[in-house]
Amino acid sequence: MSEELATNGLTLVVKWSSHEYTIDSVTIEDTVLDLKKAIFKNTGVKPERQKLMGLKSNGKPATDEMLLSKVDIRPNMKIMMMGSKETDIASVDLSPQDIPNVINDFDIGDDIELGNIPIQNREEFLAKVDKRVKDYKIKMLSEPRNGKKLLVLDIDYTLFDHRSTAECAAQLMRPYLHEFLTIAYEDYDIVIWSATGMKWIEVKMRELGVEKNTNYKIVFYLDSSAMISVHTTKYGLVDVKPLGVIWGKFKEYSPKNTIMFDDIRKNFLMNPQNGLRIRAFREANKNRDTDNELYYLSKYLKKIAKLDDFGSLNHRHWQRYLNQE
Ligand code: MG
Repeated sequence: MSEELATNGLTLVVKWSSHEYTIDSVTIEDTVLDLKKAIFKNTGVKPERQKLMGLKSNGKPATDEMLLSKVDIRPNMKIMMMGSKETDIASVDLSPQDIPNVINDFDIGDDIELGNIPIQNREEFLAKVDKRVKDYKIKMLSEPRNGKKLLVLDIDYTLFDHRSTAECAAQLMRPYLHEFLTIAYEDYDIVIWSATGMKWIEVKMRELGVEKNTNYKIVFYLDSSAMISVHTTKYGLVDVKPLGVIWGKFKEYSPKNTIMFDDIRKNFLMNPQNGLRIRAFREANKNRDTDNELYYLSKYLKKIAKLDDFGSLNHRHWQRYLNQE
């Protein structure tokens, strides 16, 4: 203790991803940001991606500029951290499902609230959406058509099993894909949004025969850089697909006429009402003959296309709705 006082040194234990890391390179004269940098050296999680749970000053969350001497901290205190490594995020390029399982899926319910403001209404996140609206460049593949609704589709595990091996992409394609897109195209403009890089999206769409299909057109592709990261109280930092990016750029699309399919529900955090969680299509070799999700979803899309406003629908019950007269 006396030695610690003499040097102002501070030893802290950071718990992250079920490991504990001892951080002993900071002093109480360093800032919270210095602590985050020290944690970065140990864990590889960049300071801006770290969320240190319970780090407070006078009952309020500690800010990066704050001196550790002003933070409610004691020697050998255990701090829980949430955050993802850049390498984990980079690996999204090849395999989005490799992000730690904890964020793979969860029910959107009370957990989406931080303070009392729902995530989709929080100003800092809406500001990020605005920034994407301004800065993200969309390459148009076809033109929006008058009076059509909008269907936004994920790729991996939604249209395609990207983890199984096969001789060609077509063997990993979800059954009924082209028929589904053909039927959807009658009432919807179609956008593809994947948490990978644009190059991968283009390759996959070409390999699957979507790119040049003569029965339907895709309006544009969105990649991971159109996504934003948001903090959730329960799951820390997660990347999501905010439809506001599209709504901000195209006045013809709105919460009233947009539906998005994804196998990961957290992607809908900024627009829970408009998301439909599709059952993941995995193990294509085994499930190719029995998976009929896209077949029934094409019928659902057809049925709801008659509505002027999707606001009254609960896509969790899409199968029930489909069976109603
Ligand atoms: Mg997916």
